[in-house]
Amino acid sequence: MEIRYDWQETEIKAIYSTPLLELIYQAASVHRQYHNAKQIQVCKLISIKTGGCPEDCSYCAQSSHYKTEVKPQALLDKETVVKIAQQAKKSGVSRVCMGAAWREVRDNSQFEQVLEMVREVTALGLEVCCTLGMLTKAQAQRLEEAGLYAYNHNLDTSQKYYNTIITTRTYEDRLRTIENVRQTSVTVCCGGILGLGESVEDRISMLHALASLCPHPESVPINILSKVKGTPLEDRPDVPIWDVVRAIATARIIMPASDVRLSAGRAKLSAAEQALCFLAGANSIFSSDNGHMLTVTTPCPDYDADQQMLNVLGLEMRPPFVRAETPNSSFPEKV
Ligand code: SF4
Repeated sequence: MEIRYDWQETEIKAIYSTPLLELIYQAASVHRQYHNAKQIQVCKLISIKTGGCPEDCSYCAQSSHYKTEVKPQALLDKETVVKIAQQAKKSGVSRVCMGAAWREVRDNSQFEQVLEMVREVTALGLEVCCTLGMLTKAQAQRLEEAGLYAYNHNLDTSQKYYNTIITTRTYEDRLRTIENVRQTSVTVCCGGILGLGESVEDRISMLHALASLCPHPESVPINILSKVKGTPLEDRPDVPIWDVVRAIATARIIMPASDVRLSAGRAKLSAAEQALCFLAGANSIFSSDNGHMLTVTTPCPDYDADQQMLNVLGLEMRPPFVRAETPNSSFPEKV
């Protein structure tokens, strides 16, 4: 399987619609071509600035547009963040993702504090990812200088369905931030969410948008909606596990060298369901010491439970800074 950037939506739909076990087999084969299938990267998400976000993402507990259980908190201090990261490293975590509920990065003292956090957590020998909202090219460069390894900015859903879910910024805004990150050596983490009420066509369209980015995002999180009380999506039906497996397998086949992350919503999956996701090409999870991924309303399995599951499945935790094994050994450069 070669890395391609010219996928057509009809081709992606044909892959997504392949009989399930055949689809899993194909995805597992591609996975083994590019990755060590015994390894899973375990990531830790730290919410460095929780709640009070001016954006109106319909799924989010942190939006100030909705009445949820999340209480806005000030930016965490650097010492707290470094302590959480040290603890996470001891548990086998190789990537720390620092999230701030901001619309965009501002050039102020808070950004300076985040840059300092990036420097210190990177110095622990961990991959550091930030998700801070929209970003200019100059800000991306400053994060690069601080040692940032990855920047997360998700497309969430299809371009067509996007403004049903978010009205305070556009799909183009998202793409512009990703492009700004691409001007630096910081890698891109970009994926979406299943269960927002989108159609299969919307899922195909989102996967098409991701696979048309050149190069592909090095990291593609596939999230399952965590229904949060008080948000417009609190009553959405559950996403069938078969849809999750199809989306992961399709992402694996069309973006073979990328890490595919089984992200939010994993807490609701059994170990057997997660095993199917790993077989279909997911090679990363988020884990936590307190059973929560991002906020009090986004549960996440804890380190011990995850370690046990990985032991049962014969999987090991991947060390930091391991990249996909392409035939030419490194991740493809921009063409
Ligand atoms: S997803 Fe991010 S940008 Fe959207 S409301 Fe939540 S914290 Fe704000």
